[in-house]
Amino acid sequence: MKLHILPFLAAIKLAHAGWKLDHRTCTGADADLVNKIMVSAFELAGHGLTAVDNILNNGNDNGNSDNVNNVVKWMFFKDDEQVTDTAMKSPRLKKVQDTLAGLGAVSTRNDNEANGGNTIIVYCGVDTSDDRFEAVNWPDGTFRGYRDADSLRFYSSPQEYLKGCHDYQPTTAYAMAGDDVDNTPSQIQICPFFLDWMKNGDTGGGTQPHPQTLPDLIQPKSSATWWPFDNDKRKSVFYNSLTKAFLAKKVSVLKPIDVFSLFDKVLLHELTHTLPGKQTLDVDEHIGILTGTKYGWNRCRKLAQENPNEPVKDKDGDVIGYRAANKNADSIALMCSAVTMLVAEDTIVSEITEDGQVNLRQLDD
Ligand SMILES: [Zn+2]
Repeated sequence: MKLHILPFLAAIKLAHAGWKLDHRTCTGADADLVNKIMVSAFELAGHGLTAVDNILNNGNDNGNSDNVNNVVKWMFFKDDEQVTDTAMKSPRLKKVQDTLAGLGAVSTRNDNEANGGNTIIVYCGVDTSDDRFEAVNWPDGTFRGYRDADSLRFYSSPQEYLKGCHDYQPTTAYAMAGDDVDNTPSQIQICPFFLDWMKNGDTGGGTQPHPQTLPDLIQPKSSATWWPFDNDKRKSVFYNSLTKAFLAKKVSVLKPIDVFSLFDKVLLHELTHTLPGKQTLDVDEHIGILTGTKYGWNRCRKLAQENPNEPVKDKDGDVIGYRAANKNADSIALMCSAVTMLVAEDTIVSEITEDGQVNLRQLDD
C-alpha cells in the first residue's frame, strides 16, 4: 500500500489521490514499519510497471532483460505465446498496466488529504472505538447499524468489519475497494497476526529480497494481539489448521519466490484490489484457499495457461469476473516482486527461474 520515485514519474495527478495510515491504529513503531513496507510495495509496482511499459511500447528491443520478459511471460502469457508478439501483448498486459499505473497515481502518502475515491487508507491494527464505528439509528429510532466513519459503510457490529481477519484461514490482510460514485476511499486492513509476525522477524522493505522462513510462519513470535477477542478455543483451531492442514499443503506448493519480499508483496496484492488498483480478483477464492485460490507462483503459472475469457462465477452462479491472469491479484504482485529482484540496484538476485527458484549472485560476482 505506497509509492515514490523514479518508476512513477509519469504518474497522473488526481484530486485527493494518495494513501494514508489510519491515525488510530498506526502509531509508533507499527506506523514506521507499515510505512516502510508500503513504500516498498509501491516500488515493486513501479518496477513492474516499467517492465510492462517497455514490452508494450518498444517492440523487440525494449530494454528489459530476457529474464524480466520471461517473468512477465510466465505470469500472463500461455506457454506458446511471446511477450514480443504485437497481437498478443496488448490483450495480455493492458490491464496489468492499468492496475500498476493506477497505483502509481496514488503512490504519495498524504495523511491529511480528504478522503475520496482515489484515497487508500491502511489500518495497522484493530480499532472498533466509537471514534470510528458509530451506532446510527433510522429516523424512526430503530437501530440501523454501525457506520464506519472512513468508508461510511454500515455494519451490524464493529466486529463484522473485522471478520476478514478472524476467519479460520490464515488471513494476512484484506482490502475493500472504495466506491467512485459515492467517492469513498478504499481500505486495506492488516491483520494483527500478520503485523505481529512481521514485527518479530526480518520484515523486509526496501528492494532487496527478504526470505521468510516457514518456521516463522508456523510459529508467530507472539499471539498476544492478533486475535482481538477473548476466544482461546478458536485461536487454537486457527493454529492447528495453520500448522497441520494449511502448511502441510502450502509447503508442497510454495516456491522460493513466494516467500521472498513477503510483506511488501502482500500489501501490493491488496493494493491491486482497491479502486485505484482497478479492483483485481482472487481467481477461485470462492472455492477456498486450500483447494484452489490462484495464490502463489505455481497456481499463477497454471492460471496463465487458461482461457482468460472464461467467466468466474460465485456460489450463486453470478459472473464476478474472468479466469484472467491479468486481473488476478497474486499474478500481478508476484510479477512485480520478481521483476524488482532482477532490476533493483545492487540486487543480490542473479536469476528467477520458470519454476519459481530465486538464484542469488555469488559474493565475488
Ligand atoms: Zn486477494
